[in-house]
Order: sequence, then C-alpha cells, then structure tokens
Amino acid sequence: MALLTFLGAIQQVTGSCYLVESRDGAKVLLECGMHQGRRAEEDLNRSAFPFDPRDLDAVVISHAHLDHSGLLPRLVAEGYRGPIHATEASCELLELMLLDSAFLQEKDAEWENRWRARQGKPAVKPLYTIANAEQALSQRRAHAYGAAVEVAKGVQVTFHNAGHILGSAIVEMQVQDHHLHRHLVFSGDLGNTCSPLMQAPTQLNQADVLLMESTYGDRDHRPSDETLEELADILQQAHREGGNVLIPSFAVGRTQDLIYYLGRFYQEGRLPQQAVFLDSPMAIRANAIYSRFHDQFAAEDRAALAAKGAKRVEDWLPVLRCTPTAEESMAINRIKSGAIIIAGAGMCNGGRIVHHFKHNLWRENCHLVFPGFQAKGTLGRLIVDGAETVKVLHQRIAVKAKVHTLGGFSAHAGQSQLLDWASRFEHHPELYLVHGELEKMQTLQAALRERLNWIANIPEPGEQIAL
Ligand SMILES: [Zn+2]
Repeated sequence: MALLTFLGAIQQVTGSCYLVESRDGAKVLLECGMHQGRRAEEDLNRSAFPFDPRDLDAVVISHAHLDHSGLLPRLVAEGYRGPIHATEASCELLELMLLDSAFLQEKDAEWENRWRARQGKPAVKPLYTIANAEQALSQRRAHAYGAAVEVAKGVQVTFHNAGHILGSAIVEMQVQDHHLHRHLVFSGDLGNTCSPLMQAPTQLNQADVLLMESTYGDRDHRPSDETLEELADILQQAHREGGNVLIPSFAVGRTQDLIYYLGRFYQEGRLPQQAVFLDSPMAIRANAIYSRFHDQFAAEDRAALAAKGAKRVEDWLPVLRCTPTAEESMAINRIKSGAIIIAGAGMCNGGRIVHHFKHNLWRENCHLVFPGFQAKGTLGRLIVDGAETVKVLHQRIAVKAKVHTLGGFSAHAGQSQLLDWASRFEHHPELYLVHGELEKMQTLQAALRERLNWIANIPEPGEQIAL
C-alpha cells in the first residue's frame, strides 16, 4: 500500500511538507515549505531533505506563502527537475514570493560574509540564489480549480478553493496503488469565512484520510465587524489629532484585505484621510495579480466593486497612491499629517516601514496599527509589548505614537470554522491534525471528540502511515 510521511509543519506552523509514495514507485511531494521564526527553526532550512529530490515524480503546492513553498529553489538546486503543480494564481504569486525570498537570502549571506571576512572566518553560501528561484519557476505547471490532473503514475490531484489567499487550494489526491484506491484530502490553509475578497473554503465530503490545518484550533476570531469599527474609530481619532497612520502589513493577502476595507470606508464616506500610500513594491505587484484574478473574489465583494464600477483596486479606493520607487517612497517623509501609510515588512524587521517609523514614531499624534500577529524577537513585537524607545536604522527613537493591535483580520479559519468544515465529511475519515502548535492541536482534538465524537491523530515529525 501507499505511504504518507509527515515531514514538516508537524506540531508547528511552518515548513509544510508531506511525502506520498505508492508501491508502484510514484513519489509525490506535497508542499515544500520554509521553516520560519526563531534561529533554530530557520537553521532547519539547511538540513538535508529526508529523500533524494531527484527521485521525485512531482511536487504539489497548496498556495504561495513561503511556509508552503519557500524551499522550492533549494529542491531544484539539489537536482529536482520535474513539474511543480499549483493553481494559476498561485503560480503567479510564486514568482513574487520566490524571487523576493531568493533576493533576501543572497543579501543576508552577503552581509554575513562581510562580517565573517573581518573575523577571518570562511564565507557562507546563501540558502539559495535568484538563479535557483528562476529555475524553480520554470518548472511550474498551472491548473484551474476543479480540474483533475495525473501528476504521477496512479496519482491524481484536484485543487479546490481554500479561500485563504488568492490561488490557495485544498488538495484532493486520489492514489491508485495496485488494486487499492485511496482518497486523501489535505486542507492546506483554510480561509476565515469573515475575511473579505476570498470565497468560503470549498466543502468536500468524501475522503479516506484527511489532513487538516489547526493554526487557530484553540479559538474563534473576534467578529470582523467589531474589528472594522475599531479601525474606523482609529482613523477618525488620527484625523482629529492630525497625525499619520502607519500600518505594517504583509504584501500578499493582508494588504489586499486592508485596501478593500479602506475602499469600503471611502465608498461609505467615512474615510477622513485624503491619501492612502501603498509603499511596498511587492504589495503593488501582488495587487496587480489580485486585480487580474478578480473573477475569483467572493460574489458579494465582486458585486460591491461592480456597483461602483471598480475593476481594479485603484477604482475602489481612488485616494490610493502606489509608490514603487525609492524616490516616491522618500517623498512621503515630507507628509506630516492626514496620510495612511501601508508598508512592509509585516513584522517590522526591515523594509520601508522602518523608514516611516523614523519620521513618525516619535510623534504623539501618530497612530500605529498592527493588523496581525507580531512574532517574538521582531521590532513589531517590542513595540506591541510597550517599549518606550526602539532602535531604528541605527538610531534610538522614542515610541510616542499610539499603538493599536487589531485581532480580527486573520486569514485562517477559527476553531468553529474548522469544526464545521470537517463535520461535512461523511463516515469520519482517518483524521490527522497538522500545521498548528501542539497545545492548539490538543484543544482542537478535544473539541472534535466532544462535539463530533471523532478521534483525531496528532502525528509526530517524521511519522509514516500506510494510506
Ligand atoms: Zn498560508
């Protein structure tokens, strides 16, 4: 019978990776994600793959986030030359994500090597290069949602909309091994049904084996209406006080949600700011991809856009100003009030947002809005935790701005949504919880037992099961 090995995002949320092998010799890698977070986790990105990349027949990627796709350039650097299957929109977003990631890897290695040269230490190589990323991109195969594709002998894959970010997919896999037929469903990252633009995750109801993410297996999110009202209040307050509003944001997903919401405020006549700057070249390119695939947006959001004659985000939020060049970005520094500035990095550990910190963070009338989680060890987390001063671009700066954290903008399903999605499967498939921290999985496991009388498994890293 076929085997499934749990290689990554096991009892943690990054480094998504699973291997499916049939007795007929088909080998399919599901996900090739990067480990992100603390140093020890990121070091895992350099450890040897527990398989020979040259032996794989196919690679299947659920969506473009780096924790699901970020090691693809390393996989090809180690000899993988087969197809990389993903949805059409994921294929476009992968180009943004992998080239940017490779650029950062090269830059990091360059910095480290300067330091090493001074210490007389040997140079390190980047995790991978732009050339590796370009090679990986040349191996992409784009597929529409709902189309069944044979990716290896006896292994058929169908992508279904997961509603998490543009192009995100639930991966349905049919494995024919000798006379045995097995049906595997991998949830990928499931979207939050309250987040805008994306459709609700597709509901499937048949599987023999189900792998389900559990990022927020322990809780429900705050209703997004409350979060929206909170944001509207902050914008009004900032307008009265005369300062700028800074929003550090991730380029893909979160930024498009924000632009949609700000557009809604604009259309309703309750956006007091005269200008919204999108100061992130990557987010600007991601916007263009979102606009191109607007037929994949949720029907009600598409209708709202259409009612205002908006085909692109710029039509929906006419005060949006994109500033791709460094000169345009620096020109924003002269604006002391009345602007909303959205810039990366999402956790403030670099990017253009830190330049805006330098010019605004010490102003009492500035408002800083975190629309998402800030990991430990990041500049964003220091500020959220109440630091009075922070070091920005080699200067110590007082944090006088008012700091807000918005909790309701998650792109992941909360506990009730996960339970609801799982409950539609008939005959309780064999269930494995993945992509979540252990305590959160245990809470979800208990909820599944209590509410659905369903025993879920929590696999160990490296565990192998017969499909
Ligand atoms: Zn994701």
